[in-house]
Amino acid sequence: MHSIKQIGEHFWYSTPIAETDRPVLGMVVGNRKTLMIDAGNSESHANYFLKELQKRHVPHPTIVTVTHWHWDHIFGLPALKDTLIISSRETKEEMRKLQPLSWSDEAIDDRVREGTEIEFCAVAIKKEYPDERNISIVLPDAVFEKRLEIDLGGITCIIEQVGGSHASDSVVIYIKEEKILFVGDAIYCRLYAEKWHYKIDETLQLLDKLEAFDADTYILSHTGVLSKEEFKREVRTLRTIAHLTELCNGEKEEIVHKYKEQLKRELTADELDVIEQFVNGY
Ligand SMILES: [Zn+2]
Repeated sequence: MHSIKQIGEHFWYSTPIAETDRPVLGMVVGNRKTLMIDAGNSESHANYFLKELQKRHVPHPTIVTVTHWHWDHIFGLPALKDTLIISSRETKEEMRKLQPLSWSDEAIDDRVREGTEIEFCAVAIKKEYPDERNISIVLPDAVFEKRLEIDLGGITCIIEQVGGSHASDSVVIYIKEEKILFVGDAIYCRLYAEKWHYKIDETLQLLDKLEAFDADTYILSHTGVLSKEEFKREVRTLRTIAHLTELCNGEKEEIVHKYKEQLKRELTADELDVIEQFVNGY
């Protein structure tokens, strides 16, 4: 089950659902305009959020932006007919490639077999759309390069393309007056590949960009809300493992050994996963 939460005066969001891969959806409410962040994995996902916010007297979004091209962030766009859709130019280009695809079980399974779709997403799509699957890819109305600043009236959003291993078109949204950074999926590893992975350079460059924002609250699309401390811990883990991967030439056992020595404890399952993903990307 989702729930709706508010942070500060201007920001609302719905919590994620792992089973159907529904990410966090955000809404930034200014005095003049309202910006929705991500459209969700289906029209019903988007409509759920819109309806819940309407009950709370939050205005309908004037603008919607998507954090990157992945299905679970864009399939809800047809529910936002009167809303201006904004994305990075790269996101629009990637979305265009999805337009000719069929989303029948057979077509999805074929793509999984040929390696252009991943099992994890195929399962989630089938769960989100058990019966009818009328999926249409609505392309953004306006695109930007690198960075866009939007004044919603009393609240400013800075949308910046940060890239990273997960998807090179990833953008983050910095809600300046509330000191919230909507990170999307940017910090996760790459899923659309033979093996889930992180690249050292891409990750270190991404972390530099993320740390340049002066934020107190961080939103990760499939994790939820992180405090500054929790986010710093994530960043430290990624940086350390990135450096150890380099130092140990991608030798897994050696990385594990050195990291354990540093931490003076056994590693968690999450830490071992991250090591595996850096080794895969090495
Ligand atoms: Zn993604």
